[in-house]
Amino acid sequence: MVEVKINPFKNAQQQLNNVAKRLQLKKGIHELLKCPLRELTINFPVRMDSGDIKIFTGYRVQHNDARGPCKGGIRYHPDVSLDEIRALAMWMTWKCAVVNIPFGGAKGGVICNPKEMSQAELERLTRRFTAELSIIIGPEKDIPAPDVYTNAQTMAWIMDTYSMNKGYSVPGVVTGKPVHIGGSLGRREATARGCLFTIREALKHMDYKVIPPEKWRKECEIGELGEDICDGDLGTGYRFDNATMAIQGFGNVGAISAELLSKKGAKIIAVSDSKGGILNKDGLNIDKVLEHKAKTGSVVGFDGADKLGPKEILEVECDVLVPAALENQITDENAGNIKAKVVAEAANGPTTPEADKILYDKKIFLIPDILTNAGGVTVSYFEWVQGLQQFFWSEREVNVKLREIMIKAFHEVLDVCKKEEVDMRTGAYLVAVKRVADAIMHRGIFP
Ligand code: NAD
Repeated sequence: MVEVKINPFKNAQQQLNNVAKRLQLKKGIHELLKCPLRELTINFPVRMDSGDIKIFTGYRVQHNDARGPCKGGIRYHPDVSLDEIRALAMWMTWKCAVVNIPFGGAKGGVICNPKEMSQAELERLTRRFTAELSIIIGPEKDIPAPDVYTNAQTMAWIMDTYSMNKGYSVPGVVTGKPVHIGGSLGRREATARGCLFTIREALKHMDYKVIPPEKWRKECEIGELGEDICDGDLGTGYRFDNATMAIQGFGNVGAISAELLSKKGAKIIAVSDSKGGILNKDGLNIDKVLEHKAKTGSVVGFDGADKLGPKEILEVECDVLVPAALENQITDENAGNIKAKVVAEAANGPTTPEADKILYDKKIFLIPDILTNAGGVTVSYFEWVQGLQQFFWSEREVNVKLREIMIKAFHEVLDVCKKEEVDMRTGAYLVAVKRVADAIMHRGIFP
């Protein structure tokens, strides 16, 4: 059977179309939001360790800047395509709007396989790509961040290359940098921590498998903000009452989510990465899984767990399913088999519009990507603010502000859902698209 590739940009446009009518968007504004503002395709040479010169293709797409500078990650992956980057850029616009931070949306990517490249090759690729990108990025224009298979080191190379070309240090050109060159405390964990807050609010809303603080706070414990809460009321939060969770993807978002959620009482029964998955119904020891992955490069082969096929993890019986890998994982083919009560989209675009309908009919509570994973861009915003002011906050301040923003956004969306009787994705889009459309209308159409 020929596999038909699902086009994420078409999905993103369909998600926008679904709310355009409800919002009574003017036709021109709808058309404007359906396509990106600016796109740059770069074919650039990189000297490989062998001495050969290889040509790579990279993209940067800026979807909309009505609410502020564009913001969005850069991914390195063999499957990167212009339409994927367009979709991710559009989702960034809505994500920044739903948590109400003053950014527009952008995304970038390079078609490459970082697993087959040396560090030196990755550095040369990043530096050349940055030099070519520098005509459209900058702290007031467009600020990249890490995404799939890029990390703090990649951001440091981008910052350094951009700064070398300017002749002075420009830390505000990227976020997700190492802390000692202007990165924010808490940024590495931010996306996962944001997921935790949204999952917990969802379970509280459902009155399911959460324990209020007064019922569990007995002993000395590390709170969700990283603080020691044995002597005070700093750890406000509910704990998960052994809620079972399955997490697809074990990178920045997936692995740290597993760590934070399990510390808060969740039972992580299954995790997976690009090589496969593992399942233990009694709960996995996440610290040990992390050790195993660091040693072997994969979660597969972990002792005391059953092996799962590539997509089997999505169909595991659990309370919360967290797709934290790539887009188009939950489709009309497997949505009917999903048994979780909550799907928390830590990845961008993991569910197709057709699958959305199936999950909604099955009464599965879906927390949409633009809300679930907005913790990353929120702390990126904090990093950008701290960098511009050259005044840095404690990790606790970062985490408290993150919690405030995530919980407020979750309830703003939930309130719209109740009022309009719609699912959470539609609710999130109603909030986000309205904010962007209002910004455009207030600014007016130039000239
Ligand atoms: P990462 O590179 O750190 O990790 C990706 C993980 O996904 C790896 O464990 C990889 O093995 C796994 N993976 C790849 N293909 C897979 C497959 N087919 N099945 C199962 N696992 C697979 O990337 P990340 O930063 O954790 O990003 C994951 C998702 O979260 C992406 O959709 C990204 O856009 C989104 N996201 C990331 C951030 C962030 O701050 N890093 C913020 C918002 C959203």
